[in-house]
Amino acid sequence: MDNFETLLEQSTKIHGHICAGQVIGVRMAMIGLREIGIEDPKGSQRKDFYVLIEIDRCATDAIQTVTGCSLGKRSLKWLDYGIMAATFVNLKTNKSIRVTALEEARETSKKYCPEIDDKYKQQLEAYRVMPENELFKVQNVTVNVPKQDMPGRPLQRVQCEKCGDWVQDCREENQNGQILCHPCVHGRYYQIIEE
Ligand SMILES: [Zn+2]
Ligand SMILES: [Zn+2]
Repeated sequence: MDNFETLLEQSTKIHGHICAGQVIGVRMAMIGLREIGIEDPKGSQRKDFYVLIEIDRCATDAIQTVTGCSLGKRSLKWLDYGIMAATFVNLKTNKSIRVTALEEARETSKKYCPEIDDKYKQQLEAYRVMPENELFKVQNVTVNVPKQDMPGRPLQRVQCEKCGDWVQDCREENQNGQILCHPCVHGRYYQIIEE
């Protein structure tokens, strides 16, 4: 795996700007991969692990860059919790690690690089050098990865009996014997405009 500076450079390019989130995300991903024993995430071990990310913010792009995981490959799962945390799962050994960025780091970072006036620049520089335990909480966890969440061909596809949309990967719901898609049971994020 590349070193921190190279990975940060890559993620900055993909994300579009350098920010504290890139530094946090790159470091989170490096810790996660290290702890679950993945040294070649984009090569020989690319199918051996899986990442669950609990936020859709800057750091998410960095985690995607460093791990090579993506939504499309189903190796990255996004959970909309708004928590700056990610869990790294080794699918071969089941070793799993959840890494959370500590909120206190915003304060503790002030000890580092005090010569920088701008708060955001100061945090960015501090996050590069702060020891891991001041920046992150690392937890050993177990994760059940359902068969239908694994990469590979969809296990099944069924048609919603109400709207006719097709549903893959066992996301359909059975409501009183009727097979329905999620929106038909729980409501839609869009409203159809009748022509
Ligand atoms: Zn950013
Ligand atoms: Zn439906």
